[in-house]
Amino acid sequence: MNISNHILGFPRIGVNRELKKAQENYWNKKISQKELLKVGKKIRIYNLKKQKKMGLDFLSVGDFSWYDHVLTTSIMLGNIPKRFINENQKKIDIDTMFYIARGVSHNNKETFPSEMTKWFNTNYHYIVPEFNKFSSFNFNCSQLLIEIDEALLIGKKVKPVILGPMSYLWLGKVDSKNFNCLNLLPKLLNVYREIFKFFKKKNIKWVQIDEPILSLELSDFWKEKFIYSYKYLKGYTKKLLTTYFGNISHNLDVVNSIPIDGVHIDIIYGNYDLLTFNEILSDKILLSLGIINGKNIWKSDLLKYYNIIKNFKKIRKNIWIGTSCSLLHIPIDINKEKKMTDKLKSYFSFAVQKCYEVFLLTNALNTGNIDLIKSWIFPLYSKKNKLNFNNKNLKKRLSLITEKDYKRCNEYRVRIKKQQKKLNLPIFPVTTIGSFPQTRDLRNLRLKFKENRINKTEYENNIFNIIKYNIKKQEELEIDVLVHGEPERNDMVEYFGEHLDGFLFTENGWVQSYGSRCVKPPIIIGDIFRSKKITIKWIKYAQSLTKKPVKGMLTGPITIFLWSFPREDLSYKIIIKQIALALKDEINDLEKNNINIIQIDEPALREGLPLNIKKRKKYLKTAINAFKLSVSSVKDTTQIHTHMCYCEFNDIIESITNLDADVITIEATRSRMDLLKCFKNFNYPNSIGPGFYDIHSPNIPTEEDILKLIYKSTKFIEVNKLWVNPDCGLKTRTWKESEKSLKNLVSAAKKMRLIKYS
Ligand code: GLN
Ligand code: ZN
Repeated sequence: MNISNHILGFPRIGVNRELKKAQENYWNKKISQKELLKVGKKIRIYNLKKQKKMGLDFLSVGDFSWYDHVLTTSIMLGNIPKRFINENQKKIDIDTMFYIARGVSHNNKETFPSEMTKWFNTNYHYIVPEFNKFSSFNFNCSQLLIEIDEALLIGKKVKPVILGPMSYLWLGKVDSKNFNCLNLLPKLLNVYREIFKFFKKKNIKWVQIDEPILSLELSDFWKEKFIYSYKYLKGYTKKLLTTYFGNISHNLDVVNSIPIDGVHIDIIYGNYDLLTFNEILSDKILLSLGIINGKNIWKSDLLKYYNIIKNFKKIRKNIWIGTSCSLLHIPIDINKEKKMTDKLKSYFSFAVQKCYEVFLLTNALNTGNIDLIKSWIFPLYSKKNKLNFNNKNLKKRLSLITEKDYKRCNEYRVRIKKQQKKLNLPIFPVTTIGSFPQTRDLRNLRLKFKENRINKTEYENNIFNIIKYNIKKQEELEIDVLVHGEPERNDMVEYFGEHLDGFLFTENGWVQSYGSRCVKPPIIIGDIFRSKKITIKWIKYAQSLTKKPVKGMLTGPITIFLWSFPREDLSYKIIIKQIALALKDEINDLEKNNINIIQIDEPALREGLPLNIKKRKKYLKTAINAFKLSVSSVKDTTQIHTHMCYCEFNDIIESITNLDADVITIEATRSRMDLLKCFKNFNYPNSIGPGFYDIHSPNIPTEEDILKLIYKSTKFIEVNKLWVNPDCGLKTRTWKESEKSLKNLVSAAKKMRLIKYS
């Protein structure tokens, strides 16, 4: 039997980020809705034609979205938060979608947007569906209809992609603790039935139905409802249940008891033992193997997979080949890189090339001819050694690491006394998280430098002036621990990538982060080390301007790793250790230059948690060790800060304690300090800055608001361990907002100092 192939989804931003430009122009009223729709259509046709041209059997449709695919699902299911339903205008259209995503102000009334959060363990953000006991659903088929008709004109085998009902409910948020979203299933499933009926009418043979939550640990109740739902949806079209980002073996009892026609598994991140898995999977259904990595950009070792699957297909007849997940998480076309050498390009596959890899592998398996595969992967083998720097000194250094390198000389109790003697800070010390407003002038300055319109000296002098301004402002505001403000940084990972050895940058390697926002992750291409100092001159200059302590400011090893495309020939543990050692050199230099407080940001730490619970411990150990490796050689008197901007610590509190940072600053404003309960229950031993100003909102907190929150936090944390700071950096705020808010923050801290504490 011939093996068929497909991908789980294609990036929708357009090969030159056309969608981003069109969205933003539309929001700024520079183009009409008609023009926006035209851009979307053009992107979809391009995506479909590419899939066809690259040799895929099925064309995926429904993977396009104007903002986010979970929001698209909400619109398709008619689940619109009530505050966006306009009495006069009953129609739900693209504008409704943008309002939900971005909020809307009308007649001076602000309607707040739906929340946004990370899509499993990726850096993609989705719009959180809202549920309550009045939620109702109805099938809104217009966009899907357009897309299916477009695709049918291009190829016959069209495979719609939809988010399954269970994952959809799981990803949402309910408005009250007493309401369980599973109560909505009967209403919701009726709409899903409508959708399947609609596909049937369109003569669709296969539907891809995404249920990524099958990689998670599900309660018995959820499992029971899962089975119930799919039994209810039996019939109409063939269903391929797709899972990704983890292993689903522990939920196979569910998969085996529902009437589906196929299941897709993630071979890359699921670490499957295929033979064992095959034994426990029902043999009545088709198995789609997600072999081509949808989360990284290296060419796949097709020969290796060819050999594995060649044998496997003798055991299991009905298989398909596909990508591990949607290609949404990688850039579109390596051939759009104009500055990259051909040699370098020959190592990488972006989305278009990944489609081709899916074809190459299937084709080889169907014909037995492996010539094409061999020439495709030739660069991987022939130049392998040349690419990897194989730095001997670094290898040696790594081999010399011992347990001692992960530990500071003395424990926190001892360190903090020495630090306090040196720093002499008041109680409730006030600090900020690092960045100060990135004004238009500052962005222009960086652009001018990048385009060689100003020289390095001119550029650096300007940066020095901004630092001077930032320090002056903070002194005026009477902040206790100052920062230089990060004006030299475009992005907290890119900046370090550019200054460390081992990273490669693309010109056009954009990946959607949320809505119209895209990021351009660097590629880790060789051994990582620091050949020159990175931040020292900026921090040293800032410290020379003031008697107050200035914090050294670095991005941590896990965040640098997770927000890059790592090499695949080396274990992630070693790559992370290499980054940690490079940062260690920088930290030691900061210390040598009399910087007594150093902050290492790890905003991505939690996002990297594997979906499979069993894998989490190992990940956390690697992450925590990397952090400790970079900071542990500092003196007792040097105070180490870390920052993590999220408000869910329950799963990781033990690891956070093991991190042993002297001070951790977190995001607590929106949860009104509730998250501190977790720190209290765990008896967290070191100092904490909970965050008393929500920098994600343009609102200015009053002194009274802040006082209330600080006061509340004293119920959870000892007074002498509390710091006062905003939730995150001030990069996205204006100076006007920042100044007012910081002023209130400082005056609130001062008031707290007047209270007598026994
Ligand atoms: N130091 C960084 C800043 O202030 C931290 C950013 C982050 O946590 N995402 O911008
Ligand atoms: Zn942050």
